[in-house]
Formats: sequence, structure tokens, C-alpha cells
Amino acid sequence: MTAAPPPQAPFADPRALAPARKVLADVFGYHEFRPGQPEVIASVLAKRDTLAVMPTGGGKSVCYQVPALLAPEGVTIVVSPLLALMKDQVDALRQDGVEAAAINSTMPREEQARVMSEAQAGRIPLLYVAPERFGDGAFMAALRSVHVGLLAVDEAHCISQWGHDFRPSYRDLGSVRPRLGNPPIIALTATADPLVRDDIVERLQLRDAVVHVAGFDRPNLRFDVVRVKSIKEKQELIAAKLKNLGEESAVVYCGTRKKVEELTEYLQRQRIRCARYHAGMEDGDRRRIQEAFARDSLRIIIATNAFGMGIDKPDVRMVLHHDLPDSLESYYQEAGRAGRDGEPADCVLYFSARDRGLREYFIDLSHPEAHMVVGVYRKLVANEGRRTHIRDLMDEEDQPGINAAVQALVDSGLAGKQGYMAWATRHGGEEEIDTAGLEAHREHAVKKLDAMQHYAESRTCLRARILDYFGETEHNAACGNCGPCIAPPAQTIGGVDEEEDRLFHALRAVRRRFADEANVPPFTIFSDATLHEMARKKPRTRFELLAVSGVGNVKYDRYGEAFLAVTRSAAGAAPTTPAPSPAAVRAAAAEREVPIRARNGKVIAPSTRRTLELLREGESIESIARQRGLSPQTITQHVVDLLLAEELDDISEWVDTITLGRIRKAAGEGPIGQLAPLKEALGDSVSYEQLHLARAWINTRERS
Ligand code: ADP
Ligand code: MG
Repeated sequence: MTAAPPPQAPFADPRALAPARKVLADVFGYHEFRPGQPEVIASVLAKRDTLAVMPTGGGKSVCYQVPALLAPEGVTIVVSPLLALMKDQVDALRQDGVEAAAINSTMPREEQARVMSEAQAGRIPLLYVAPERFGDGAFMAALRSVHVGLLAVDEAHCISQWGHDFRPSYRDLGSVRPRLGNPPIIALTATADPLVRDDIVERLQLRDAVVHVAGFDRPNLRFDVVRVKSIKEKQELIAAKLKNLGEESAVVYCGTRKKVEELTEYLQRQRIRCARYHAGMEDGDRRRIQEAFARDSLRIIIATNAFGMGIDKPDVRMVLHHDLPDSLESYYQEAGRAGRDGEPADCVLYFSARDRGLREYFIDLSHPEAHMVVGVYRKLVANEGRRTHIRDLMDEEDQPGINAAVQALVDSGLAGKQGYMAWATRHGGEEEIDTAGLEAHREHAVKKLDAMQHYAESRTCLRARILDYFGETEHNAACGNCGPCIAPPAQTIGGVDEEEDRLFHALRAVRRRFADEANVPPFTIFSDATLHEMARKKPRTRFELLAVSGVGNVKYDRYGEAFLAVTRSAAGAAPTTPAPSPAAVRAAAAEREVPIRARNGKVIAPSTRRTLELLREGESIESIARQRGLSPQTITQHVVDLLLAEELDDISEWVDTITLGRIRKAAGEGPIGQLAPLKEALGDSVSYEQLHLARAWINTRERS
């Protein structure tokens, strides 16, 4: 499929981008730019105002992160709408060794002050803030002594009322730039709608902006629409689909909270582990669920669109829609949360002919017809300014949109409102009602819904529909990777070979350990895409591992050895490896580069074997780490592997009998799973290292 013709990119001088490429590779471990990134980065580096429109998962963050790291003298301020989103980004950057920070209202003042003084000293290249911060006097005062090199407005469509995620706190961002010393602005969004784009440029007062619209195609997403006759059929099909998910993650979107509740209950009755998420829940519950999802301890979430921008999880493998969304923009953004890592993912819309009704009801609710607003005004005027209950303004029972109609009158200064009571504040203001504006909003909403329905009813390539809708007209008529384009049997994800799959899972287990230990989401350590590539390429050396996309220098230093230990032994054991020369075999044997098998048949990586020898010589974990120039965590990992291989007969050196007993007791019966709950139960008296070692010991010796 061909993308849209490349937009004007006058600044994409390859020489100017050489330092950016280096940062991309060294810090983020990526060896190629994604489409659009070079143009956008070049424009930012040239200090131009820039609007980047790239699909969800297209790699927008890198577009300001790379320039931020190339401008050591200035801080890049990143405006982001949600705390959870900021937190994940900051976690991920820290994993790459970047000193990013976030400031939000929930932090204690002293902590905020500490971050600000770091920023003032120029030690924080990226500072994430919520838009509300700019209304905070202390924050703005502190900012005066910070050199702001770039203002990045992420999820910039939140500024527009025409968008689907309008946030009042974004509205005043246009006035912020002068107060920051007039840095250039980069605005980023996945919303392609020209109306929204124009709004962003206007409201942020972008000057002579370079607008870059990247191709909207997401070739790794497989779109499908399943037409059903009843809710029951929807539920059954969704349950069946989720049962195929295995160890992966999925989101199911529903149109209302009630539907979320119903579907969650149904799925749980089918013994599918899942959790609900909607705006009617306590903040704390929502946070907990979102966190569990990020950390892979919860795989399936049933949600309204309240579960939104906060999800940057790159390895969501399915996004299913139980109800028709209000527009293709919403659909593409929600579905686009699948497969951000570029690996195959499924996006399925379950559609029944009745679904449009729900959306029409919502349109009535929020976009009343102009004549209704006029009618309400007349009634209020007839009551001569007396307070009238909203119920008594309706023409029929339960008239949807009555509240919105009253609100429209309040907004144009013709009425007042308190609770359920409303009153006219003036006579004769009928012509001041913006009937044209009201109708325009309503028509806009109906047109969007029409397009969504056409998609749901399409018998031809779904991808082509989407791309046409977003104005990307140069593409094949059939993509070969969506419901209408493919024959039904080829409906499962995957198809990797078995050994690779086993290796992938082993690598995931290593990642999981590090994530638990650092208390961060696993994907901030390495994405699934990166682990898949490791499983495929089976790197044996530092150099080979660094060539894997997603492995930057800092991550290599922190985790490289542990992952190499796994891939190396797989590479060594793989029958496809070409036979080495006898000299090489001797050299390798001399260096103990040959993996050995443990007594219980487990493969022991050479590096781990070396640790075993040193342990047998009486060295401690710390001294081995020092000698070998590896981290103590890596050596601890070797010890864990040696315990699992039953090559060590004693752990009392690291975990004494009493501590071991306490761990045993806290863990209850059966093999020990996750460590986080144990750590919580036992507190600081037991370290994560000890828990890892104890788990390996107990699970192999006592509970296998
Ligand atoms: P967006 O904000 O556009 O939705 P993100 O910035 O969150 O997307 O990026 C999505 C994923 O793609 C992240 O895991 C990110 O690290 C990865 N990514 C970004 N740029 C590249 C690249 N050049 N090569 C490989 N992966 C990339
Ligand atoms: Mg993003």
C-alpha cells in the first residue's frame, strides 16, 4: 500500500538529522525512523512551530523527545492531559536513562520544588505537566528561571471543541507561550479532521506552522466487522474471541456504563478474567485497574471511552468494540490502541443494525435541534422570568437534549440555571440564539455517525474505507489484511515457530522480573516487539543485542546480560546455527562459551556457568559482580537460574533459615507466583533479591 504523497519537508536535510539518528539509536535503541519522524524532528530542530498529525502508535513522542535530548541547554515542557499517561512516559524515559520528570498537583510542594530546582539547573531535559499547572502561581514563578527550549503539546486535539476529547483545561494554552519566553511549539495529535487541525493552529497561535500529516495506515492492524442479530450473540462471540487471547492483552469498548457492567458480568460468568472501567467508578479503583493492565497482571479490560488516552501500553493485541462508536475518528483512535508496537493485532467491531439508535440518542442528548432551543426559550419568556423546573419545559416525556438546550441558552446569556430550575434573564433575545451554530454542530455529529455506519456495513476493504475517510486516497483497493479481504480461516494471530515462541516467553519472564523489581510496567523495560526480535535473532554478543530495535545503551547496561543469557543459550542449542570451526570451538570452550546442561536438563548459559564456578570458589555475589564488571542484579539472576537448574544445594548464604520460613509462610501453599504481594506483606526486612532466590529455591525443591 502506498502512503499519501510525502508532505513538504524543506528541512529534512539528512546531515541535520545525523545527531538525531544517533540519539534515536543510542538512547532509544531504534535504528530507523518511523514514517514522518524525520520530517517532524527536522522541523522542530529548525525551531519552527510544528503540527504533527500521526496515527496512534505512530511514534509521536520521539518527535519531541529526540530534539529535547539534542538541546542540552533548554528544558522541553510537555503538556499532557492525564497523570497516568505522564507517569508511563516518565517511567519509560527513565528506563532509557533519561532524567525526565513530571510535576502534578498531587505531589507534595517540597517534591515539586525539588523537581523545579533540578529543572532550573538544567538537569531535566523533559518536564511533563498537566495544563492546569500553568494556572498555578508558584509553578509559573519557578518557571521564570527555567530556560524553556520547546513547548510540546501532546494530544493537542483536546484543545478543540470539534474534537472528541475536548478538555477545558487545554483551552487557554495559547496564552502560555509568551509567559515561557516564547519557545517554539510542537503540537501532536492523531486526529486527522481538518476542522480540528485548524482549531489547534489557531488556538495555540502557531506561527507559520509546518503541518505534517503522516500516513494513517497501520498495516499491522487487522480490521474486521462482525454482524450480529442480538446482544446475546455479541456476548458469545466476544467471549469466544477473548478465549483465544492466551497471555496477551485486550480492551473491549462498550457504548455505555451499563453495557460495560453487563458484558463484564457475562464474561466473568464464562470464567474469563477481566475488569470493568468507566467514569462512574472511584478514582482509586480506576487507577488500580489501569496499573494492573499496564503491568500485565490483568489482561482484559471492559471499558467505556473513559479508558482512553492513559493507555500507552504498546502490546495490546485486540481491541474489540461491543457498540458502534460515534465516528470513525473515535473508532480509529480506540482501535489504534492495539498493536502500537507494530506487531499484528486484531480490531473487531461487533455490529447489529439496531446500534445506530444508541448513537442517535446521544446526539439528541448533546446537540439539541435549534427549534427545540427556541421553543424552550419561548416557554421561559412566557413564564416572565419565574423559575421553572426543567421537567416542565419538555414537550414530551423524557425529552433528550433538554439540558443541553437550557445550557445553550445560558451560554448565550438568555437564561439562568440552578440545579433543575431555569429562568429567562431577558425578553426578545430570540434572534441571539445561534440556531445556525446549533444546527451545524448537530449536522456535523450526524455526518460522522453516517460515516461510521458505512464502515460497519462495508463489504469491501475496511482499511481502504478508513484511509479514504482520512483523506489518504492513494492506496490499494484491497489491503489483504482485513475481514472483507481475507478468507475466514486465517483469523488467528501469530503463526510463529514454536521454539521462537518458547524463547519469547522465557524473555518475557526475565522482563517481568525486572519490572517487578523496579515497580514499573514491563513494556518500559522492553516492548513485545523487541522481545520478539530477540527471540528471532537470538543475539549472542553485546553487539548483536544492541542491533535489536529497542535496545539502547542504558538498557543494555542494565539488562543486557540477563537477556543475553537466555538468547545465547537458545542460539547455542539451536540446530540451525552453522557449525563453528574447530579453532573457534576450542577458543569458545576456553572462554566457557559453550552452554552446558544442568543435572535436571536445564540449559545453563556460559555466563551463568562462570558465576557458578566463582561461587564454588567461595566468591560472593558482590565480588563476582565487581570482578566481572556486571551488576549484582545480573549475578543474582545467575544464582536464580542456578537454583532453578538445581546446581546449588544451599541458599542460606543469601536467605537465612528464619527469613526463608517467613517467606514460606507468607506465600501460603503451592508454587510461588508474583513477588510484589510478598514484598508488600514482608516489608523492608526482606529484599527483592532474597525473594527471587527464595522463590527459585522453594518452587524447585519443595513445591514443584
Ligand atoms: P503515539 O504517541 O504516536 O501514539 P508513541 O510515541 O507512544 O506513539 O510510540 C508508540 C511505540 O512506538 C512506542 O513503544 C515507541 O517506543 C515506539 N517507537 C517510536 N519510534 C520508533 C522507531 N523509530 N522505531 C521503532 N519503534 C518506535
Ligand atoms: Mg502519544
